[in-house]
Amino acid sequence: MHLTHQPRVALVTGAGRGIGKAIAERLAAHGHTVLCVSKSDTCVAVAQGILDKGQKAKAYQVDVADPVAVAKACEQIIAEYGAVEILVNNAGITRDKLVMAMSETEWNEVLSTNLSSAFYWVKGLVRPMTRKRWGRIISISSVTGVQGNAGQANYAAAKAGLHGLTMTLARELSGRAITANAVAPGFITTDMTAELSDEIKQKILSFIPLGRFGSVTDIAAMVDYLASEEGGYITGQVFSVDGGMAI
Ligand code: NAP
Repeated sequence: MHLTHQPRVALVTGAGRGIGKAIAERLAAHGHTVLCVSKSDTCVAVAQGILDKGQKAKAYQVDVADPVAVAKACEQIIAEYGAVEILVNNAGITRDKLVMAMSETEWNEVLSTNLSSAFYWVKGLVRPMTRKRWGRIISISSVTGVQGNAGQANYAAAKAGLHGLTMTLARELSGRAITANAVAPGFITTDMTAELSDEIKQKILSFIPLGRFGSVTDIAAMVDYLASEEGGYITGQVFSVDGGMAI
């Protein structure tokens, strides 16, 4: 099916690498102006790569866990672009430990980066989005938020929290034709998963019915659909893109 995309302003957090970079590049290829956010300056190279292809992008180096920094960035963005119509909450980190060994700092870092950040961006951008009477809020969750995972209490709680936020946004914003959905990837080959040992990777592989790790394109394709005009009748859902892990 050929998807329809009218040019919009899109913002992707964690666009400097991995899944977020693939999403940013895919949205830019559809003609959207893509605002690329990352903590370090990785977003600058990604935005430049998009510009080099004759497409539209701008980089914003922002710590998404910092509510003041996000609010300031949102003000600047609204002043320059009027509104963001496609918001992709993708930035995320892991600080894995069993609960009995997990520090409060490790808990709070993951909750603020992976969950509170989505609230900060929505809060900063939602009013102009409602005035556009068209919007897409897409949050990248995880199979861990669907079924839990030993050693990832902080990450699972944050990702499951995104599901609650998503369902609530769907209800609050439906009257303005704004949809809110989450995508729950399984094991995707990126920097985040590169640090796992070969032994753990082989163990994870044995739990994936489709028998392979996912690629960033597998996730970007789902986001592409949800962001398109055709995705406009889907809201409040969590889509597993995990090779069958969460069956
Ligand atoms: P990644 O390769 O580690 O990239 C993470 C991106 O998020 C980077 O661009 C990073 O910025 C940015 N980021 C992290 N903390 C930030 C902060 N405080 N402020 C701003 N940006 C921040 O991760 P990934 O594997 O692509 O994962 C992307 C999302 O998918 C995450 O939410 C993750 O939980 C989720 N996910 C991944 C997998 C997987 O198997 N890879 C599975 C399920 C879910 P810098 O580039 O500046 O460091």
